[in-house]
Amino acid sequence: MERETMCIQAGYEPKNGESRMIPIIQSTTFKYDTSEDMGKLFDLEASGYFYTRLQNPTNDYVAAKICALEGGSAAMLTSSGQAASFYSVFNICSAGDHVVSSSTIYGGTYNLFAVTMKRMGIEFTFVDPECSDEELEAAFRPNTKAVFGETIANPALIVFDIERFAKAAHAHGVPLIVDNTFATPINCRPIEWGADIVTHSTTKYMDGHDATVGGCIVDAGKFDWFKYADKFPGLTTPDESYHGIVYAKKFGLEGAFITKATSQLMRDLGSIQSPMNAYMLNLGLESLHVRVPRHCENALKVAEFLEKHDKIAWVNYPGLESSKYYDRAKKYMPDGTCGVVSFGVKGGRSAAEKFMSKLKVAMIATHVADAHTCVLHPASATHRQMNDEELMAAGVGPDLVRLSVGIENIKDIITDLEQALAVC
Ligand SMILES: *Cc1c(COP(=O)(O)O)cnc(C)c1O
Repeated sequence: MERETMCIQAGYEPKNGESRMIPIIQSTTFKYDTSEDMGKLFDLEASGYFYTRLQNPTNDYVAAKICALEGGSAAMLTSSGQAASFYSVFNICSAGDHVVSSSTIYGGTYNLFAVTMKRMGIEFTFVDPECSDEELEAAFRPNTKAVFGETIANPALIVFDIERFAKAAHAHGVPLIVDNTFATPINCRPIEWGADIVTHSTTKYMDGHDATVGGCIVDAGKFDWFKYADKFPGLTTPDESYHGIVYAKKFGLEGAFITKATSQLMRDLGSIQSPMNAYMLNLGLESLHVRVPRHCENALKVAEFLEKHDKIAWVNYPGLESSKYYDRAKKYMPDGTCGVVSFGVKGGRSAAEKFMSKLKVAMIATHVADAHTCVLHPASATHRQMNDEELMAAGVGPDLVRLSVGIENIKDIITDLEQALAVC
């Protein structure tokens, strides 16, 4: 199947007389005929549902669709993108372990790694994604367990060199985790470039309508946990909470990562997506392949308009030929990048704030990457916990305005920008 067809049909195949749309199994629990049947589920000897804190069929239909779109072997939904990022790392890291991460990542992920996971005893080294090979090499330690990056960094819009980081990760016997939220599998499939685990905030383009918060983790099923068995004991040694099963043995390389995350992390932390939200996410996915190209088309027109405007200091959009990342974007995302454009208004922070207050079509919102055009000043919102030095390292200057171009008529979007720039 091509991606367009997968958006509509993958993940759920109704049998004779069954509902055309995925059923919403809005139930906490599931009934079994015998205690023995139930016991097999608790031993992971049989697959099935018993409690929605761990797994739910509606979620699994939708996860299977995203899995197909990304070309993975197994996937799971989470309650948010944050939960997906956390699970993807915590599934293979414990206190005393270390992770190499790109420094230009979403502010929430940065905080999760640098503050909250640090409190759990996991250390992160943040590297500039454009660093030299020597610098990248120097970031690894004997206890490094993963490398993390974002296909297109939110909001720095730096295009991550997936192949380069995959090679470095694999040379050190660890997987590469890529947050593919901004590109979506319509524009880029990180697994094809060597990524081992792909995460999403489905809250963004996948849902696409400002309706539901959610996340997803997809495993490529290619990383050989046994080859580096001493690094990943959680996957290669017995789990006593399930009578000594070994995930990588019992579920194979294709199933081990997601089964472990479901049966340990979901069991203990319960960041499950509600079946109702999964249903709405599925509605969004059905038009993802139609919406994403329109977002990219509108964003390119906006970027070209801003680039020529005399009140604009600079424009950053990886789809612009003037962008430093244009060639790399063409390699990884030949059909388009994303709908988000960042720029600086001449006059810095205060001019940016004045300009934003005059916008009418573009609404000020913390959100990005959905049908509605919206605008944000990250230094005073999503990234406000960072000092100026950290802001610069994350690629987010204090004057940066992030515009998420929606799928309204492009004429209305540009007219709005024009009138707001006229008065600032
Ligand atoms: C929004 C976002 C997240 C966090 O997702 P939530 O669904 O808000 O928890 C993670 N990564 C990226 C790139 C994001 O844009």
